[in-house]
Amino acid sequence: MLTDREGRHHHASIAPGELSAHSLAHLRHAAAAHLPRALSQLVAATGAPFLQAIADVLSPSFAQGRVALVGDAACTLRPHTGSGTSKAADDAVSLAQALDPATATATPDIRQTLADWATARRAALEPLRLKGPRLAESFGLGSPS
Ligand SMILES: Cc1cc2nc3c(=O)[nH]c(=O)nc-3n(C[C@H](O)[C@H](O)[C@H](O)COP(=O)(O)OP(=O)(O)OC[C@H]3O[C@@H](n4cnc5c(N)ncnc54)[C@H](O)[C@@H]3O)c2cc1C
Repeated sequence: MLTDREGRHHHASIAPGELSAHSLAHLRHAAAAHLPRALSQLVAATGAPFLQAIADVLSPSFAQGRVALVGDAACTLRPHTGSGTSKAADDAVSLAQALDPATATATPDIRQTLADWATARRAALEPLRLKGPRLAESFGLGSPS
């Protein structure tokens, strides 16, 4: 699927109008076979579709030393979960709370504070990471892995 109409292989996406005839035919066939009629008509009427590979990406660590990752940089889950914006906001708010000496369990050791925050955020995101593949399977829009 990631080979374009000129035979070039791409890592994760193909630009509008660059899909191979094979991929285009597969897309239209899959849309007709699996999507509700209104959506498959939309796919059929789209003259120059693009392709974007979808993956769940979880950074091995959300914090290292005095550096923390938030939002998509920390974790990007498949769109079935509809979680990107709220996850980024939760990361930012929880990080601000963790660093706020007035409200937090924060210690004077910022490295430890970030490490504790990262552990808590990863644990909070784990159920959502596991839910994405199940949603994909139940929607019929994507493979479970
Ligand atoms: C097509 C599409 C549809 C989506 N639909 C939804 C949806 O319906 N619901 C939902 O919840 N989420 C959706 N998302 C996901 C959502 O947009 C992201 O999860 C969310 O924006 C992540 O926020 P962020 O702050 O981590 O990153 P971003 O919003 O990407 O912010 C990163 C910022 O960093 C800037 N930047 C990058 N490199 C540098 C640099 N070197 N120096 C300075 N600045 C830099 C960028 O310009 C950008 O402003 C969608 C994403 C896409 C691509």
